[in-house]
Amino acid sequence: MMRLSHLRFAIWASCLSHVTASSCKAPIPSIEVDVAIIGGGSSGIHAAIQLKDAGASVLVIEKKSQIGGHAETYTNPDTGIPANVGVVVFEDTKIVQTYFDRLGVATTKINPSASATQSKSYDFSLGFPIPAQSAAEAGAAQQAIANAIGAYSQNVLSKYSWIDQGYLIPEPIPEELTLPFAQFAQKYNFSALLPVMSQFNWYPGNISTIPAIYGIKNFGPGLLSSFTGEFIIPASGDTRSLYRAAATELGDSVLLNSTILHVDRQHKSYVSLIVQQPNQPPKHIKARKLIVAAPQTLKNIGSFDLSTQEHKLFSKFFSIGYVAGVANIPGLNGSLLNVGALTPYNTPVIPGSNGYQSSGSPNQFLLGVAFDNSDYTQADAEAVIRRELQTLAAVGAVPADSSQKVTFPYISDHAPFNLRVSSNEIGAGFYNELLSLEGSRNTYWTGAAFAGHNSGLIWNWNEGTVLPALKKDLGL
Ligand SMILES: Cc1cc2nc3c(=O)[nH]c(=O)nc-3n(C[C@H](O)[C@H](O)[C@H](O)COP(=O)(O)OP(=O)(O)OC[C@H]3O[C@@H](n4cnc5c(N)ncnc54)[C@H](O)[C@@H]3O)c2cc1C
Repeated sequence: MMRLSHLRFAIWASCLSHVTASSCKAPIPSIEVDVAIIGGGSSGIHAAIQLKDAGASVLVIEKKSQIGGHAETYTNPDTGIPANVGVVVFEDTKIVQTYFDRLGVATTKINPSASATQSKSYDFSLGFPIPAQSAAEAGAAQQAIANAIGAYSQNVLSKYSWIDQGYLIPEPIPEELTLPFAQFAQKYNFSALLPVMSQFNWYPGNISTIPAIYGIKNFGPGLLSSFTGEFIIPASGDTRSLYRAAATELGDSVLLNSTILHVDRQHKSYVSLIVQQPNQPPKHIKARKLIVAAPQTLKNIGSFDLSTQEHKLFSKFFSIGYVAGVANIPGLNGSLLNVGALTPYNTPVIPGSNGYQSSGSPNQFLLGVAFDNSDYTQADAEAVIRRELQTLAAVGAVPADSSQKVTFPYISDHAPFNLRVSSNEIGAGFYNELLSLEGSRNTYWTGAAFAGHNSGLIWNWNEGTVLPALKKDLGL
């Protein structure tokens, strides 16, 4: 097979009807590659490395100033301690370990539950202290969780073992996968696990009402095995070390700060993109295949040349919200956990955070504010924290002036989080239709909407489904 090299050539911008008139006066630089990848987050960068290793030329087009998507780290300038604001741990699977090894990033293993420092529990919305359990109560609760894990593992995960590999839902679609998750949990006798599922893999949406398939996806075999065993983390403690290594590896095959001006997938054997970077002329990219690894919302990709079917499917996604950050709360020592005193399964009231977890630096805490929709601002998230601190101050859980004195040295909105569809859509075969898009119009699709919000699952999806088909298509 003749492989396209990373060949640069020039075409006259006047040939490209969608570029502004001023840029049509000069030739625009062009890049020809085997695979263009839109989105330089967890899925896009993993795909780029695998394809590069398979001998393909790749180009990653990322809208932000760094790759890594939700992997964000804040390093405290006084202590030098890194705090992973987004991605923290990775499932302990062969695919994850091989990827870290490939990028030369040293790893270690941890069990976050076992190594977590003791937290005091409060209902952050009501200001109720949640009394510590007696040894007997704690033992009984642990036993109930262990029994629930056993029931879940034996009766659910064994039945849906494909759950860690995208949404390869068998036909006919099992109706129970569309049940509200609490109802499904009652049926399979693992309700005692719901608070843990919600707290640990925060924020899964309302754990009682989300369709069962999303509840299982949130806590599949890989995650459960690491939860009861160990997770992989970079030995440096800094998640970004993975993406620094990937950036070095990919070099100028990544275009940062990019805006996609035009996507044309009408041609039989290639796709054509026009990409703008600041203070540079637009670039024309001609690629044999395209991977869309940006969250597939109409906001992100609605300006592409979507087919009627693509538009119909992507317009069905809705998302929840997640603002993650670091807060300095002067005078607070020790982590706090948010436990809903009156909510089903004691999940925190939303919008709300799941707790303030010590970042390792004095008076500094990691937090994640969850919303049940995407209709909020970062200021709304900060207001939620101030309100929680005010409530907590009234019961002496935090210093009295915390809501005034809190600062946010780093805070970032991770929306759109958890792109999902309704139970009706799941039952009507949404995912099978979604998967039928793979490969069509020289385009492959990956990322959390296709695999689940978990790097391990995304890399499973890439290596198990997307990349084998794409490589075959390329003759690799
Ligand atoms: C706060 C938080 C904590 C998490 N913690 C963990 C964890 O501990 N372990 C774990 O395994 N998973 C964790 N996850 C989940 C994991 O981070 C995500 O599942 C994963 O990052 C999703 O990968 P992705 O490639 O789909 O999207 P992303 O990683 O978000 O990457 C998408 C990329 O596309 C870019 N983009 C968007 N639109 C465009 C466009 N039009 N043009 C060009 N580029 C575009 C974005 O800027 C982004 O870089 C966490 C998620 C969040 C939000």
